[in-house]
Amino acid sequence: MSVPALPIVHSVADLRAAVKAWRQSGERVALTPTMGALHDGHLSLVAQGRAQAERVVATIFVNPTQFGPNEDFDAYPRGLEADAALLAGAGCDLLYAPSVGEMYPPGFATSVRVTGLTEVLCGAARPGHFDGVAQVVTKLLLQAGTDLAIFGEKDWQQLTVIRRLVADLNIDCAILGAPILRESDGLAMSSRNRYLSPAERAAAPALYASLRQAAEEIAARAAIDEVLARAREQILSAGFSSIDYLEARSADHLTLVTELDPATPTRLFAAAHLGRARLIDNISIPR
Ligand code: AMP
Repeated sequence: MSVPALPIVHSVADLRAAVKAWRQSGERVALTPTMGALHDGHLSLVAQGRAQAERVVATIFVNPTQFGPNEDFDAYPRGLEADAALLAGAGCDLLYAPSVGEMYPPGFATSVRVTGLTEVLCGAARPGHFDGVAQVVTKLLLQAGTDLAIFGEKDWQQLTVIRRLVADLNIDCAILGAPILRESDGLAMSSRNRYLSPAERAAAPALYASLRQAAEEIAARAAIDEVLARAREQILSAGFSSIDYLEARSADHLTLVTELDPATPTRLFAAAHLGRARLIDNISIPR
């Protein structure tokens, strides 16, 4: 059975009109923001949207303001047609794909900054990244006006930052997290996995394997600093060239955890470079 083509809008006005019509007829609408180059992880957000709402709107926008000057904005994989077909197959109702000019017209001058949460982990490794994320997500949520929006736990820090800004700015949209989808060998699905050569792809699961082992050892009360030092060695000897961070932090406020406290939900967070790709992952420490 062929899947009908997915309606695509490119302007804020068309997006608003569609969402408003659904909401006026009593339908709940979910938003799933992405940068495209879609994989099953993204499609799982759409599936969660379908479970929570009558309508799902996906967005595809490679946001220039969240990339640093030496990062992969130009190289980031793009393919609207293939992405639209995947979204249609996943049961998405509408795709919003604005241009850079629609999002940041001449004279644009407003920034959105979440302090504290953005100063650690990826925020420390990628200065300005979360200012760009906060800016674009604020805009997408206000543009769409949906009942809820779904973000992946793969980007746990991003999800935490978005929850904070939505609460702080009284944005009337429920934020839901979606579990990390992984390849069969454990590698977290990511658009950036496309950058990996076959040899790098074979080495890549070491990141999650090391996190999993470390999480189990820490849960069994091994010293966090010693466990993480061993995990670091494993990741580097698997072929990763450098590690931006490998840390235990509280799940909600991202404060550094040096000793396990059963009352504080804690996760391990890692970012490491493999060939051209910078891979991130995180895992909860069982309690
Ligand atoms: P991106 O296109 O990388 O900006 O991701 C768009 C959304 O998909 C974000 O909310 C991500 O956290 C989420 N996402 C990306 N990869 C995965 C994955 N492997 N599992 C679950 N969600 C994901």
